[in-house]
Amino acid sequence: MSCAKDNELDRMRNEVLEITKEILRLVAKRQSLCVEIGKLKQAKGLSIEDPSAERMLREAVTKEALALGIERDFAQRLTTQLIEECIKVQPKPPERKVLTHRDIARMAEALERQGVRVIRMDVGEPDFRAPSVVVERAYQEMKAGKSRYTEPKGRQELREAIADYVKMKFGADVKADQVIATMGGAFGVYLALASTISPGDEVIVIDPSWPIYKSCIRYVGGRPIVLETRLEDNWEPNLDELNEKMSAATKAIILNYPSNPTGKALSKKTFKGIVEIAQDKKLTLISDEVYADYNFTGSGHNTVLNYPEVSYVLISSFSKSWGMTGFRVGFVISDLDRANKMAAIQSMLITCIPEFVQYAAIEALKCLDEAKRNSEVMKERAEAVCKALEPLPVSFYKPDGAMYVFPRIDVEGIDGSEFAVKLLEKKNVSVAPGGAFGNYFDYFRISLGQPKEALVEGVKRIGEFLSSMS
Ligand code: PLP
Repeated sequence: MSCAKDNELDRMRNEVLEITKEILRLVAKRQSLCVEIGKLKQAKGLSIEDPSAERMLREAVTKEALALGIERDFAQRLTTQLIEECIKVQPKPPERKVLTHRDIARMAEALERQGVRVIRMDVGEPDFRAPSVVVERAYQEMKAGKSRYTEPKGRQELREAIADYVKMKFGADVKADQVIATMGGAFGVYLALASTISPGDEVIVIDPSWPIYKSCIRYVGGRPIVLETRLEDNWEPNLDELNEKMSAATKAIILNYPSNPTGKALSKKTFKGIVEIAQDKKLTLISDEVYADYNFTGSGHNTVLNYPEVSYVLISSFSKSWGMTGFRVGFVISDLDRANKMAAIQSMLITCIPEFVQYAAIEALKCLDEAKRNSEVMKERAEAVCKALEPLPVSFYKPDGAMYVFPRIDVEGIDGSEFAVKLLEKKNVSVAPGGAFGNYFDYFRISLGQPKEALVEGVKRIGEFLSSMS
């Protein structure tokens, strides 16, 4: 390179450096202003997050980006980072200490190690054993040497069996190439998010929700935006409020119906309404349907697979329907492009799920009677628990499905975390505190993963404990 060109390169590099420094100086100025705004908000008793101010900012950013020839998505992602930093530096009241079901589970296990018999209503794990033919198939295949790598999406036979299964259950027309066998539904959530959003993108989560969604969105660099639902509205998401949560940075909505923790299932009308919003705003619907089989409504499960016109990822699992939690097998289904993207991520991270587990999953798909029986047992348990809760000072929605009841404690001044700890200590009953699922501090979650008799006894003890408190 000539000397003149070298000089020119250095000059431009220096200019880039100066511009970067200038950007940083402006960011610092912005941060100081945010602190002042935070102080004013605190003095006025206003909350830190202000959706209308954010919306105005984002609209202005989109306009400016267009005028400057900057890619809109990039400008929005940058804006998210600035908003998050601004929220971080604003003075705020000390965070409320919230315990999760894992914290309570750890405490329950410590008691169990001391020989105390605890009624475990904390973890969302069914007590059902995997069908014996499933266990046998895994064993036989392992003995036959089926413990090799497979293609990242999973063996063709398994993916065809899953495609046939969703055709039979929902009339969905899905090709085997759209299916990926994943490490449980949990890894499906990760694949869906990692393939859909970039750092700075926003994802709508409907609360109360399984806590992993928000953690996973943050893990991949996104920003969860919460739409709260209320017991008073039968946990029905308000679609106008949903529309208001959208911003230029929104990329996806996560649905989980039947829901963990509320047991709510959506009507066809609401489900379709959400699909239409997603389609209109060009968002991806990530639909976690791991509890599809635990549906007590009699009117059938609403699945995103019946709306192939929208960009979607379906997440499903063998964990709940067949009691196969420890097999770690689930599946995702989406359009082919996204499926290929998710397969590339799976390939990079875990290569594939174990081959003999894939055969076990094929066997499970034939055990329709077991899945049906498990669902009937869950329904019976839900009814028994609701009946036992009836006379207690709690309010709750009678679940349409899943394996949980989510009551609100109608006793003044009770905090769900404190309630869960004391209930465990005094009555040896473990439940999940409501604050882990969102802004629901006076709620708790009962998991139905125990025999009916144990659950009814657990609720009886909850009643005794509540009367001792009021
Ligand atoms: N989705 C929801 C809503 C859940 O509650 C769970 C487990 O509790 C999962 C996904 C993941 O289950 P698994 O990874 O065992 O399939």
